[in-house]
Amino acid sequence: MNIVLLGPPGGGKGTQAKILVEERGMVQLSTGDMLRAAKTSGTAMGNKVAAVMDAGELVTDGIVIDLIAEQLDKNSGGEFIFDGFPRTLAQADALDALLTSKGTHLNHVIEMQVDDKALVNRVTSRSTCGSCGEGYNEISKPIPSNGSCSKCGNTDFQRRADDNEHSFRIRLMAYYKETSPLIGYYHAKNLLSSVDGLVEIKQVKESILSVLS
Ligand code: AMP
Repeated sequence: MNIVLLGPPGGGKGTQAKILVEERGMVQLSTGDMLRAAKTSGTAMGNKVAAVMDAGELVTDGIVIDLIAEQLDKNSGGEFIFDGFPRTLAQADALDALLTSKGTHLNHVIEMQVDDKALVNRVTSRSTCGSCGEGYNEISKPIPSNGSCSKCGNTDFQRRADDNEHSFRIRLMAYYKETSPLIGYYHAKNLLSSVDGLVEIKQVKESILSVLS
């Protein structure tokens, strides 16, 4: 089974993708994570996209399509969760073609609906463990009072360079302009389901699992 998690920045796509990886052994393909890794390791592509990402704009379709193609090859036979991809109609068409070339297809596209006001608060209050990547949020899931990650005990936490209000506004605009047309596109293909992304993480998970069942 292959699924797309669709939703605005801070909508909870990454959190739910990680749960599906743990519970169902699916493979998470997050173009945001791949681009951040390229940026951190200072590859030519990473250096090229750094400023665009920090500003909250979209990187070019060709770069992310190549990243996805590479990962589909590497994880051949896996069940994929596309997280943060596709973000444009050109990417959606490319994904369709890539999956068809592998003899497979998308089964579900799940739109995570979250109110804009909640998004800005979520994004500006989130951080991740610098070692295991566990996510925290000052409001809903604070870092334990002893200052150590509850999963791995590490004491170093990171915030994303684009998780500030200015970049967030640009990311949200990019979502409405470039990505939200995919809701209609996938609805027309009879693949779309929508879940409330504002409720507790566990409830969102249950809604997603009931779409997949
Ligand atoms: P994310 O972690 O999904 O919020 O992505 C972080 C940033 O990476 C975005 O604001 C874009 O600059 C870039 N990015 C991630 N995925 C894509 C994509 N599918 N298309 C274009 N840019 C992307």
